[in-house]
Amino acid sequence: MARALIDDCFAHHPDRLTAAEALELLRARVRPVVDRETVTLAEAHRRILAAPVISLRDVPGFDNVAIDGFAFAHAGLAATGPTRLALVPGRAAAGHPFAGRLPRGAALRVLTGAPMPAGADCALMQEDVELDGDAVVIPPGVKPGANRRRAGEDVRAGQVALEPGIRLRPQDVGVAATFGLDRLEVFRPLEVALLSTGDELREPGEALRGGETYDANRPILFGLLRGLGCTVTDLGILPDRAAAVAAAMRQAAAQHDAVITSGGASRGDEDHVVRTVHRLGRLHFWQIAVKPGRPLAFGHLGRAVFVGLPGNPVAAVVCFLRFARPLLTALGGGRWPEPRAFLVPADFVMKKKPDRREYLRARLICGPDGRTWVRRIEREGSGILTSLTEADGLVELAEDRAGVERGDPVEFVPFSELGVPG
Ligand code: AMP
Ligand code: MG
Repeated sequence: MARALIDDCFAHHPDRLTAAEALELLRARVRPVVDRETVTLAEAHRRILAAPVISLRDVPGFDNVAIDGFAFAHAGLAATGPTRLALVPGRAAAGHPFAGRLPRGAALRVLTGAPMPAGADCALMQEDVELDGDAVVIPPGVKPGANRRRAGEDVRAGQVALEPGIRLRPQDVGVAATFGLDRLEVFRPLEVALLSTGDELREPGEALRGGETYDANRPILFGLLRGLGCTVTDLGILPDRAAAVAAAMRQAAAQHDAVITSGGASRGDEDHVVRTVHRLGRLHFWQIAVKPGRPLAFGHLGRAVFVGLPGNPVAAVVCFLRFARPLLTALGGGRWPEPRAFLVPADFVMKKKPDRREYLRARLICGPDGRTWVRRIEREGSGILTSLTEADGLVELAEDRAGVERGDPVEFVPFSELGVPG
């Protein structure tokens, strides 16, 4: 049975897919499956923007003063030496413009955020001038436009300030607020069902019997999915029984945009997940040349997208971050994420099998030379979950690489680039 399954799905891909091929297949096929909705700014944080945010006004809306001090016209300053300027009575403050116009050779007391008074085009901090009765003495060397914030220097009216598909960060929401927008169009959260499979798994809080172990994948994946803004339905642990797996997955698929499982995806006698998808839906591919990673499966079950992650916790997390996360992000209306990799010298030595991509758990260190180096976490079995808690990110070693020598530049991808909530 397993043989036929593999032959079927490999009609188009006789060999294992490379990581890049798998990602490209997913990227090319995925479309947003969620509707749009309008939410308040408070609700918009971490949601995916569905429409461009276009500035309705210049920001700032008027020329204004960047400091507490005195405003004046640059043209009224002496070519050399200090300039004495008469102080005009009154002041301009934030929200309180100066009503009159500064005569030539005069200065006005101004506070940060005040509109630049008519007749003035620069300002100096109070610490930088000398007060002399009802005059100020301006030192030489003031630059034209000093301490003036120009209307529109941040954003011009009509400019696209935020592109659709971004996940809204606090600063993005703030930019929308500067345009006076109180609502934003975002995508509805992706609804994801989360399942673990395995007769050996128990819930934390329960007692373990011989041969049993606690389910660690669900708590991790729950957090990662929440970090992606998904609405997660935790469907618990499935036993290793074909009928139970099929019934639960069929129901999960009917009610969700995506179904994420871990475990039970290999070719073992009790691995029912992939067989279920093959029987009830469509299995697109399930062999990718990555370590850690196999088995990792993608398919459809009814209208829901199916992702079958490996059971080993480290493999489940790495596969989620590298393959499931971009897929789920794009299904939810987000731009396909391309995590940035930074070249950092390796503080380790290793040999590597060719023809597969390897992800190493790794930590950044400050070397004795004051530079940043990356160190591999030595305990690297794919069941060793604490290796992930020690790591800052993943080192990605390309297929054609045969090994790493100390000092070789390697591609380090910080967890922040992979959407791991901080
Ligand atoms: P499987 O992919 O089901 O063959 O599982 C591979 C290994 O991962 C086995 O040692 C399982 O016990 C372990 N495993 C599977 N699922 C989980 C889980 N949710 N939490 C912790 N370990 C798991
Ligand atoms: Mg299992």
